[in-house]
Amino acid sequence: MTIAIYPGSFDPITNGHIDILKSGAEIFDKVIIAVSYNINKEGFLPVDVRVKLIEEAVKDIPNVEVDKFEGLTVEYAKKRGASVLLRGLRTSFDFEYELQLSQTNHSLYNDIKTVFLITKPEYNFISSSCVREILVNKGDISKFVPASVFNYLSTKNGIL
Ligand code: ADP
Repeated sequence: MTIAIYPGSFDPITNGHIDILKSGAEIFDKVIIAVSYNINKEGFLPVDVRVKLIEEAVKDIPNVEVDKFEGLTVEYAKKRGASVLLRGLRTSFDFEYELQLSQTNHSLYNDIKTVFLITKPEYNFISSSCVREILVNKGDISKFVPASVFNYLSTKNGIL
C-alpha cells in the first residue's frame, strides 16, 4: 500500500490544490493532505479552520485523509508510514523552489520520494496568496476555491 503525503500551508485551499489532490488519489492507495503549521505564526486562517474547510471539500474522495502537522515534513511522513511526498507544479518558479525542497527532504530521509504533478492550465495562475489578495479587496473568489472556502470566507468578510 503506497501512502502519499500532500503537504502545504493551504491557507486557504484552492481549486488548484484540489486538482492535484484528486489526481494523486487516483495514483496512490491513500493520500494524506497535511496542513503544515507553526504554533508561533497564526497565518491567514487558523490551522483548525483550514483543516475543516479541506475536510468539507474532499469528503467525497474515499482514500483521502486530512491532517495537520508541525515540524519537519519528513518526520511526519515517517510517522505516517508514507513513502511519497506529493507536490504540485505550476511554473518554472515553482520548479526551482520545489527542486531544492525535494532534494533536501530526500537527504534528510532516504526512503522518501517526491512526486510532482503538473497543474491543469486553468489552475495555473491560482495561488492561496492571490485568493487572499482578491478577498481583502472584496473581489469574487468563487472561481478559485471550493464551495466550503467560498462560503466560509464570504460570510466572515460580510460579502454574502
Ligand atoms: P507551501 O506553503 O508548502 O508552498 P501551498 O499551500 O502554497 O504550500 O502549496 C502546496 C503545494 O501545492 C505546492 O506543491 C504548490 O506548488 C502546489 N500548488 C499551489 N497552488 C497550486 C495550483 N494552483 N495548482 C497546482 N499546484 C498548486
